[in-house]
Amino acid sequence: METQYSIFNTAKRIISDYTLCAECFGRQFALLGTGLSNQERANSILTTLLLEYNDLLNESQGNKDLFMKNLEKLQEIASKMNFKPAILLMKKFQPEWQDSTDKVCYLCNNFFQRVNSLVTTIINNAKDYEFENYLVGTSINAKIVDKEDEFRAKLEINTGESMKKNFNRVVGKKLEVIWGKFVEFKQPQLNIQISIDRDRYKVQVTSNPLCVKGRYRKLIRGIPQTHWPHKKCRGKGCEECYFTGKQYPTSVEELISPEFLQSSRSDQSVFHGAGREDIDARCIGPGRPFIIELKEPRIRSIDLHRIQKEVNKKNGDKVEIFDLVFVPRSEIKNLKQSGEATAKTYYVLIKSETKLTKRDFKCKLASIKKKILENPILQRTPLRVVHRRADLTRKRMVYDIEFKWKNRYYFSSRIKAMGGTYIKELISGDEGRTKPSLSELFGRNLRCAELDIVNIEYR
Ligand SMILES: [Zn+2]
Ligand SMILES: [Zn+2]
Repeated sequence: METQYSIFNTAKRIISDYTLCAECFGRQFALLGTGLSNQERANSILTTLLLEYNDLLNESQGNKDLFMKNLEKLQEIASKMNFKPAILLMKKFQPEWQDSTDKVCYLCNNFFQRVNSLVTTIINNAKDYEFENYLVGTSINAKIVDKEDEFRAKLEINTGESMKKNFNRVVGKKLEVIWGKFVEFKQPQLNIQISIDRDRYKVQVTSNPLCVKGRYRKLIRGIPQTHWPHKKCRGKGCEECYFTGKQYPTSVEELISPEFLQSSRSDQSVFHGAGREDIDARCIGPGRPFIIELKEPRIRSIDLHRIQKEVNKKNGDKVEIFDLVFVPRSEIKNLKQSGEATAKTYYVLIKSETKLTKRDFKCKLASIKKKILENPILQRTPLRVVHRRADLTRKRMVYDIEFKWKNRYYFSSRIKAMGGTYIKELISGDEGRTKPSLSELFGRNLRCAELDIVNIEYR
């Protein structure tokens, strides 16, 4: 009996002191019952109160003072709670009674009554996007939230839910019915952000990135993996770069992305590689994993087979892509972290500054191989990249190395090493920053004339 009375006492205190809409009234009891909407909660409590007042009114017909007191109670439910059955009953007892027209909900400023117009705005803003699921998020002005907190503290209400949660659900349910699509919390394709101020709202609809993973082969030398702004003008465009703002005329990224951007009608894309090869190195064999992140895509059901075919048809002699699959965005982090966990195999053409006879070459090989395979290579950040990377000494491993003599100035090598090893420096020694180096072990200045990545393995 106690609990039942406390709900109705709270309800009566709310009704006597405040004007509320049904959502805001029902929300105060949201933790009671499941599978009910706040409207249903409001209806149920108000209906019970209405029946009670009707009974009291019938019984007090003979006592005018008591009758008027009870009528006042009924009028409160009719007017302040805008409860239709109470309005009808009021008219029955007092046909001349006029309901007030300007009712403003104390808690939400009638925002819940504007949900339909808000939903129309959302639907209009979302009409250009293809999506299967979505998420609604609402931010509500802190003053509105504080007001409800104070209201609850004053009335000792501890069965309410937040206005934000209430609003998200009401809007989400309406969209669910109209779109026939469901809310997704983990990886929504469409994000609907509503912000509510005192008397206005803002709606922002954004499409979450679409990510496609694949592998690429770079078949030519001289192009970087991603677009490089021209050093001199920092990408602004100048005479020297023919106002392209580019240091290199193209890149793997620029050759690959247009087809993806066009098909998905995205605003822009970001190219993520599992490491990168030098500009003058090719990347052949099974290729290098990459993820292309398409921002604000309008179309999601893009045909990866067709895109692969188009990209390869256009760039077949420069860049090739294959093994395309859709991946969640979280894969970008995994791709970036996978760098050092790989073993890469390189083919290198090495030039010697001084003559190297075949006999000299052959007799040194066994000991060089042993020295390079048995101990870690200590590699300080190369001079050529130290301006953009921390100057550290890193331990690298060479897993396998083979040599082949070509002529007195050239020999080639096949090197399998830990991801992140700087191969050019392993050959040159980088003025003593890489130890040991092939230059040091061969006792002469060597440099890398050609570099290809021929395999990338995940360990
Ligand atoms: Zn309200
Ligand atoms: Zn420039």
